[in-house]
Amino acid sequence: MLLYILLIQGFINYQAIMLCNERMNEMKNSSYSGFYKLSPEERLAEAAEFCGLSEEDKAVISSGNSLDMDKADHMIENVIGRFTLPMAVGLNFTINGKDYLIPMVSEEPSVVAAASNAAKMARENGGFYTSNTGAIMIAQIQLIDIPNPNFAKIKIYENKSKIIEICNEKDPTLVKFGGGMEDLEVRVIDTLQGKMVIVHLKVNTLDAMGANAVNTMAEAVAPFLEEITGGKAYLRILSNLAVHRLARARTVIKKETLGGEEIVDKIVTAYAFAAADPFRAATHNKGIMNGIIPVVLATGNDTRAIESGAHAYASISGKYTSLTTWEKNADGDLVGTIELPMAVGLVGGATKIHPTAQVAVKMLGVKSATELGEIIAAVGLAQNMAAIKALATEGIQRGHMSLHARNLATVAGAKGEVMEEIVKKMVSEKNVRLEYAQELLKEYENRK
Ligand code: NAD
Repeated sequence: MLLYILLIQGFINYQAIMLCNERMNEMKNSSYSGFYKLSPEERLAEAAEFCGLSEEDKAVISSGNSLDMDKADHMIENVIGRFTLPMAVGLNFTINGKDYLIPMVSEEPSVVAAASNAAKMARENGGFYTSNTGAIMIAQIQLIDIPNPNFAKIKIYENKSKIIEICNEKDPTLVKFGGGMEDLEVRVIDTLQGKMVIVHLKVNTLDAMGANAVNTMAEAVAPFLEEITGGKAYLRILSNLAVHRLARARTVIKKETLGGEEIVDKIVTAYAFAAADPFRAATHNKGIMNGIIPVVLATGNDTRAIESGAHAYASISGKYTSLTTWEKNADGDLVGTIELPMAVGLVGGATKIHPTAQVAVKMLGVKSATELGEIIAAVGLAQNMAAIKALATEGIQRGHMSLHARNLATVAGAKGEVMEEIVKKMVSEKNVRLEYAQELLKEYENRK
């Protein structure tokens, strides 16, 4: 009898756990339909529920001036005010089996909708899978006036332990958390001014972007390098070509989801163009950055560092090419990959100062900078897929038109229903110009 009761109880507990898990999964479903139809307040409420944001966090996001003047004044020089941009959420993202709402800050229409749309297609087949190469940043030290550069190179390698010691003394906090300088690379390069010895300090910067951390180390170790080589240390600064800090993502999109194998072929052909031609690759990669930069910005990271790293990596073979690849697999489905340097951080920089950036990090629930980097790479891949699919099929302008029309109608001063009417008319007549929006608004006002 007792055994029977225990069995029943066990079954009831199991049912309760399953129900709870189901609810959790239900709650953590980043796929919404009709999200765009909600008001910004309603959308924020949905996002807050999904991400577990407090009333305080919600206030930070909706206020638009969460960065107070005092903080702003300490961030950069000659501050005269603050500048706000729209913050949105990318929907439908499943990354490594987990659902995310992606905080995105951008001035460009269509970007968030396109990323969400691509993520929706990807999630039908499991979404995105990601990986990374760790958080190793490179600091460079330029050594000049060395008559025997190859001899100097070997001497520098001989002193690796001492170099590591000098560097790590500069950042005990980083070392305490398990990071710090780990390795060394010495290169002899030919320049317009003869041979130079370039020392690369390889530093594990963990959850910091690491620029300040590695620059401090480079400056500290430079005198020792001068001493052992007899040369002169000139520049001492990180490289944004962070080849040991790569984020990777991949996805498989079913041909049925895309509308048939013909669309897969079109996308693969469009990609081949970008892979072969730098003129096309520049725009192709700009499309990737359309997804990447809004997340980098939302989380308070350095957008220029990511841009320069990405474009330098795109030309690492000696020829500028695509940061993504798109192929057709044996089943006729579309398979895509992305790999790029991703020097983003969770500590330091603006991430810890800007209140909205802190909430954005909370929204993603990431525990490490590498995890954040992987999510950003997945968004870049999604964004690229959306753009390339539109270009290879209906063209980019159809999707852009109504958003562009909406912007113009706003500039003309239209609101609410009038705005909708004006947008509809401009798009259907394919006459999307500011003057026409103003003319239509005037017509409407005269009709009143
Ligand atoms: P930082 O110096 O403000 O913070 C990093 C420090 O935080 C580390 O050195 C470490 O001591 C400490 N820390 C505490 N907990 C840590 C953890 N879990 N993981 C790692 N470190 C931890 O910031 P930073 O990341 O060194 O520098 C980033 C800033 O540098 C950005 O604002 C960037 O714009 C700027 N910057 C960029 C460039 C460039 O990209 N070329 C050049 C100069 C400066």
